Amino acid sequence: MVKKIQTVEEWKIILNKLKKSGKSIGFVPTMGALHKGHKSLVLKSVEENDITIVSIFINPTQFNDPNDLNNYPISLSKDIEMLNDSKADYLFLPDKEIIYPNNYTYKVIETDFSKQLCGEHRPGHFDGVLSVVMKLLNIIEATNSYFGEKDWQQYQLIEGMANAFFLNTKIISCPVIREEDGLAFSSRNRLLTKKDRLIAPEFYKALSSNRSEEDIIKILTKKGFKVDYIKIIKNRILGAVSLGKVRLIDNVKR
Ligand code: AMP
Repeated sequence: MVKKIQTVEEWKIILNKLKKSGKSIGFVPTMGALHKGHKSLVLKSVEENDITIVSIFINPTQFNDPNDLNNYPISLSKDIEMLNDSKADYLFLPDKEIIYPNNYTYKVIETDFSKQLCGEHRPGHFDGVLSVVMKLLNIIEATNSYFGEKDWQQYQLIEGMANAFFLNTKIISCPVIREEDGLAFSSRNRLLTKKDRLIAPEFYKALSSNRSEEDIIKILTKKGFKVDYIKIIKNRILGAVSLGKVRLIDNVKR
């Protein structure tokens, strides 16, 4: 059974014992509403480490839109079931006051790549992501921490931050897990209307099509998506779109 931990002090006591016995620790940070994408990260951590700790914290500072934060799905009891099935050992569930004792006056900011792509369309988003991940990595002191390529820009920035600040935790990327129709699993998928859920797989299809960025934008716009960007970077095509109020991101190798 996964053991719930709510304070930093509780974890540090356990951590000291784990360190003394030389156990490796895998850490999977999440915002909850867990699905098969999250599960793949947890299973990889369980496979590669003696102990796995998962965090669930809906990080307010990374939401540039208050409605998005207020509507973010929560399913704690189901999440705990999934963590038990996956043989995770600990669940870190901190309150906002624990993570932000200084009311977000201290931040980690990357000044270049974080301002592009999703950063351009969601001002301050990656400042919030990097700040919370830095705090969590410093609290957990894991051997390895697991991040999904679904959020490829996020993974690149976290890896860059870990290198820039000489963090001790190794940052490990995991492939995108998809529904049978190709739509990448996302906690936000459950907010799609029935009609939009049927259209949503067209996003992945278009990204995989080998067409130009401009053509993909045209195709998706015609199908009813609002396109934030479609961009090829480092042998990869990345995109962000909205269907109604639901924003979806995805990327595929080229
Ligand atoms: P989130 O709860 O959305 O903050 O995501 C927590 C972690 O799960 C991040 O590292 C995500 O990149 C990863 N993740 C989310 N969806 C997927 C997916 N479909 N496939 C693989 N990893 C994912």
